[in-house]
Amino acid sequence: MRLLVVEDEPSLRRLLVQRLREENYSVDDCGDGESARDYLAGAEYDALILDIMLPGISGLALLRGLRAKGDTTPVLLLTARDSVGDRVEGLDCGADDYLVKPFAFDELAARLRVLLRRRSGGAASDIFRVADLEVDCARHTVTRGGVPITLSGKEFAILEYLIRNAGIVLSRDKIGRHIWNYDYEGGSNVVDVYIRYLRKKLDNGFSPRLIQTVRGAGYVLREEE
Ligand code: CA
Repeated sequence: MRLLVVEDEPSLRRLLVQRLREENYSVDDCGDGESARDYLAGAEYDALILDIMLPGISGLALLRGLRAKGDTTPVLLLTARDSVGDRVEGLDCGADDYLVKPFAFDELAARLRVLLRRRSGGAASDIFRVADLEVDCARHTVTRGGVPITLSGKEFAILEYLIRNAGIVLSRDKIGRHIWNYDYEGGSNVVDVYIRYLRKKLDNGFSPRLIQTVRGAGYVLREEE
């Protein structure tokens, strides 16, 4: 899951980025609306955490622009002003939820999970299943045939991306950019390396194989046809 954090207060921004990365999200961050537009033009995000009071373009103006373009990326607004008008305006502009500062990180994380759940076709929970593979995206646990499987942070992030898009073929570049953000270099084989690790843990000794290679296109998580 890939997030963009737009917050001009350096300490809060650092904290959010650090904590979200600890939860295995891929996180980009910036401190003003102009930069946020650049990030949004260059990448696809699963959700946006957006401060309202920003230097230059305000969070609300940015949000209005996004929605005017038909962009439906879930947006969680952060506001220091606990005024009804501010909240109403934010929601009217197309925000999905808001948090009033100061807030507890755990509450932000929980609200974010709700937004992302809605995004994933309204899945009823954070638990995804394909065949006998079960991935709990809130608890970060994986089982296959009831057997717990331990994954590294990156392995989990890739599996989560695959299972949230189960049945959809994802290119190496798409997976790479999603997981490694701007650090990803197209043409590198890092995605293939991690897919190999995942197969070893998830598919070896189990049937059917679930991580499929689609020649010339990429990878897809689905039961073998
Ligand atoms: Ca601010």
